[in-house]
Amino acid sequence: MRCTSCRSGSMEENTTTYFAQLENCYVIIENVPCLKCVQCGDVVYRSSVMENLLKKGPQRY
Ligand SMILES: [Zn+2]
Repeated sequence: MRCTSCRSGSMEENTTTYFAQLENCYVIIENVPCLKCVQCGDVVYRSSVMENLLKKGPQRY
């Protein structure tokens, strides 16, 4: 898969720390699987991962 930001780097499996601000709290989730560009470091989350985070995140954290 090619990076959508720099259009030259390739995306590789990686993990990152997801950070989001919800209505009245902050959510920090470590070791979230993602694809990271080896060239510019841009991170893309899989849509299934994001769905899980949005569904479970506010209750679990
Ligand atoms: Zn890139």
